[in-house]
Amino acid sequence: MASMITIAIGLATVALLWFFFRPPFGKNMVRLNTDQRVVALTYDDGPNPPYTDQLLDVLAKHNVKATFFMIGNRIERHPETVNRVIAEGHQVGNHTYSHPLLGFLPPFCIRREIERTDDLLQQYGIATDSVFRAPMLTRFLPVAYVLAKLDRTHISCNVWSWDWTTQNPDKIAKTVLKKTLSSTGAGSIIVLHDGKAENKKANRSGTIEATDRIITALKQDGYEFVRLSDVS
Ligand SMILES: [Zn+2]
Repeated sequence: MASMITIAIGLATVALLWFFFRPPFGKNMVRLNTDQRVVALTYDDGPNPPYTDQLLDVLAKHNVKATFFMIGNRIERHPETVNRVIAEGHQVGNHTYSHPLLGFLPPFCIRREIERTDDLLQQYGIATDSVFRAPMLTRFLPVAYVLAKLDRTHISCNVWSWDWTTQNPDKIAKTVLKKTLSSTGAGSIIVLHDGKAENKKANRSGTIEATDRIITALKQDGYEFVRLSDVS
């Protein structure tokens, strides 16, 4: 009897944890809804000059458009970089105001983090229901709840670059290309970083060099690059 109770408590705990970390409601986009050979490059944690500018130079060289998930307090500090990102035709998304571990905050704090950056982006003509990604992809129960209330989709990914652990361009490019090509690649959403949340002056040279190699290799394989808004 005691062992059955233990098993029941164990199963209930697993179910609750699963419900918290993988809430089975709301919209969570992991890849683009397409079977075409298109991928979306996404960059988190900027704007971060001069690296964001160097990245924009690489994207312009290849005539590729990407999506930038920006942090509100960085937007306030670097309006000229935000303007350049928008002027060059890239999409801008919301990555909270201060990049907290969002999934562990109460709903009212989560809402404030999202809406503060919505307000900032609105000053650049970006709609208040712009694409949103939680820091460290912590779309846990409170985040899923707030996004469902706001009727907004969380943008996740299917290809991690791991560029927050290394700035070795070989490693970053290899990781991205292997994962993208091994999963047919169609509609892949790739996460890279033009900034680093915990370091306001993070050097992103490795990510920039890797981006050059990733674009070159995927283009040779027949892939095209889109912003999230290009594929619904
Ligand atoms: Zn982030």
